[in-house]
Amino acid sequence: MTVLVYAEHDNQELKPATLATITAGLAIDSDVHVLVAGANAKAVADSASQVVGVSKVLLADSPAFANQLAENVAPLVANLAPAYSHILAPATTTGKNFLPRVSALLDVNMVSDITKVIDTNTFERPIYAGNAIATVQNTESKIIATVRTTAFDLANATGGSAVVENVSAGDDAGKSSFVKEELAVSARPELTSASIIVSGGRALASGENFTKYIEPLADKLGGAVGASRAAVDAGFVPNDLQVGQTGKIVAPNLYIAVGISGAIQHLAGMKDSKTIVAINTDPEAPIASVADYFLEADYQVAVPELTAKL
Ligand SMILES: Cc1cc2nc3c(=O)[nH]c(=O)nc-3n(C[C@H](O)[C@H](O)[C@H](O)COP(=O)(O)OP(=O)(O)OC[C@H]3O[C@@H](n4cnc5c(N)ncnc54)[C@H](O)[C@@H]3O)c2cc1C
Repeated sequence: MTVLVYAEHDNQELKPATLATITAGLAIDSDVHVLVAGANAKAVADSASQVVGVSKVLLADSPAFANQLAENVAPLVANLAPAYSHILAPATTTGKNFLPRVSALLDVNMVSDITKVIDTNTFERPIYAGNAIATVQNTESKIIATVRTTAFDLANATGGSAVVENVSAGDDAGKSSFVKEELAVSARPELTSASIIVSGGRALASGENFTKYIEPLADKLGGAVGASRAAVDAGFVPNDLQVGQTGKIVAPNLYIAVGISGAIQHLAGMKDSKTIVAINTDPEAPIASVADYFLEADYQVAVPELTAKL
């Protein structure tokens, strides 16, 4: 058995999601290879080769993979598949985009969003927005799965010495083209990899209040800013800050929920956080059921006090 892990990267840096997916791969078998599909991505392959537990890195370097379009990546992975018993990708937008195509090309079913490896073909995954955990056994000859990266520890990024092998990269499938991307520029850490997150909810009432209350606290803590869907839908902050079932899944060391009630769809995205602090005027708010520390207070008073004391 050999496990192939698809690397999440931006052609320059290996993303932490890859390290968590490698840990999931190592829980299946000790022979883990990493595929880096990118353009001018040699530095990424070199980083992947340092990860402890990785025995080989495959580098598919081509302009066709510059933006990792699913239509180009899927045939590449399907072509490499015969050598592998398992193919894993992080359950990120990239992984969720191309891996179902690989599974269709190989005519095998896939398992989405695994949170635990029980044995080589049995996995746990959350269902009903995380309210139940399903144990899924896949009897396919080849296992294709996305990995919920917050459920696995990060593999050590240094200390390994895998070989890097170039693989025939393949051409542009010509089915899609990259037009543009607009990325929010922020000096704060990225939401899914931040170790501290301060999130605001509907109670913030405006974008100005995010700037006035949430951002200074996040900056004092060196954390990221998150939000509930109610805050996003109301236009207080952009939707890439949304945490939850239809937003980002996060599991930081510290999650501070300010004026967020804790609807199940929000909890689905953050309840695995190591320490949860809630600041809310309503002690009956559902967030209290998952909070390690609950401060019954008006955020307009409590948050500036907390920020000043840090
Ligand atoms: C299919 C589906 C998917 C969804 N996906 C998501 C998702 O991904 N993420 C998500 O967040 N939601 C999601 N939702 C929406 C979710 O159901 C809730 O509506 C939403 O999370 C509520 O946001 P909120 O907690 O900010 O607002 P509210 O529920 O209105 O809560 C506001 C809280 O602020 C408190 N408060 C009020 N004033 C103050 C004050 N001055 N100081 C301190 N506290 C105060 C209140 O006591 C209350 O608890 C989804 C819903 C559906 C149906």
